[in-house]
Amino acid sequence: MSVTWTARNIADHVRAKKLSAQAVLQSFLERQEKWEPKIQSFLVRTRDQALVQARQIDERVTRGEPVGPLAGVPIAIKDNMCVQGLKTTCASKILESFVAPYDATVIRRLREADAVLVGKTNMDEFAMGSSTENSAFQTTRNPWNTDCIPGGSSGGSAAAVAARLAAAALGSDTGGSIRQPAACCGVVGLKPTYGLVSRYGLVAFASSLDQIGPFTWNVGDAALILQVIAGHDPLDSTSVDRPVPHYTNALTGSVKGLRIGLPDEYFVKGLDPEVERAVLESVRVFESLGATVQKISLPHTEYAVAVYYILAPSEASANLARYDGVRYGHRSGNAKNLLEQYELSRQEGFGSEVKRRIMLGTYALSAGYYDAYYLKAQKVRTLIQRDFDSAFKQVDVILTPTAPTPAFRLGEKSGDPLQMYLSDIFTISCNMAGLPGLSMPCGFSSAGLPIGLQLMGRPFEEETVLNAAHSYEQATSWVREPTLS
Ligand code: GLN
Repeated sequence: MSVTWTARNIADHVRAKKLSAQAVLQSFLERQEKWEPKIQSFLVRTRDQALVQARQIDERVTRGEPVGPLAGVPIAIKDNMCVQGLKTTCASKILESFVAPYDATVIRRLREADAVLVGKTNMDEFAMGSSTENSAFQTTRNPWNTDCIPGGSSGGSAAAVAARLAAAALGSDTGGSIRQPAACCGVVGLKPTYGLVSRYGLVAFASSLDQIGPFTWNVGDAALILQVIAGHDPLDSTSVDRPVPHYTNALTGSVKGLRIGLPDEYFVKGLDPEVERAVLESVRVFESLGATVQKISLPHTEYAVAVYYILAPSEASANLARYDGVRYGHRSGNAKNLLEQYELSRQEGFGSEVKRRIMLGTYALSAGYYDAYYLKAQKVRTLIQRDFDSAFKQVDVILTPTAPTPAFRLGEKSGDPLQMYLSDIFTISCNMAGLPGLSMPCGFSSAGLPIGLQLMGRPFEEETVLNAAHSYEQATSWVREPTLS
């Protein structure tokens, strides 16, 4: 088999007995042996468990028993999702020795679909960052240029899929952490509608924004994986109980009559000219396929980053209060009393970006400032949502760049949090409004780095977004494999 096989190809061949799950796994393991030392996308690889899983799938196929829609597909998991018996570190020292006692719902669903779990991927600590440089453990590199960041916070998942070290991966997206690394690494990344995919077993960052979604080589695979992980889960109170559409059947390849909106506020100063050119070129492709394109306005866009950096840290400061060195996680050995134990455990366990967010959030929620910051930000969040509500009366999908620039160099922004925060200027609003958002490759910079375009849709209209993306993918040839050396 070829490493450029899609998840769909693999599962179809395994089911049809044309390829064994063990042979598939073997070729991915060989590729990992060769390239993982360079890319550093995994925090842990689960070779032995994966071999057992693959063998069991093959045995069932041989016995003529039915196997699932992801039969034999090697999948990597961001290290903020619980996989029973494996460490779930969130790339943080505070959880360095935490072993998950249960499977997240998405993991249970992947197992039921007969996917093969190949490891846990690197990330920015607690998913806070846009470059994966905030990992307490290692630096993941962009497979297109190993001097560049893979994006973040799900950088390990994006890099693993781009380098074909896994056929697909899961990430989480709070303000862009699936779409921005997908853009940086030239793969497809989908953040589903808030409430579509269960967050049970996902370590919480900002609970009103977090969603789990797939990284894949192409749009069809994103639909296939979404099909498996979507759906109501009583274990997540924000999970929505509604029938899951048939996403793969929605990929008709036709966008005739589709109304696409280009928001003025997303084509502004600071947008890299090469990114702008590639995205506008994609607009012409959509038009040539029969879509109609019109300019729209999302007037509150300029407040999105500011609002996000009040709301997300506020939620994070509450969610991260549980890491106190008592119940689980790092416990300082230097404390003389209980208060010191809390203080030192957190001081030693959290990295500087996480501490910055906890301070921002605690401040925004404090009695004297709550109204001025948190409450105000909630109101502006509503205005951002209303911008989308009215835009979606005129158009069916909104097309924008995913990120203002292609992947930047390692170290370039790690000393400047504000610059880093601006990496998500085009992805954050989508989380605020809870919408589905997809990033896919739409070209390359002159330096050979991938450029991503973003498509956003109405809540629970993943079918429309996926079909638009699929049509564009069919008409172009941007799904490419990096040359590793
Ligand atoms: N980069 C953004 C942040 O640092 C978004 C992260 C995410 O989506 N998890 O918060």
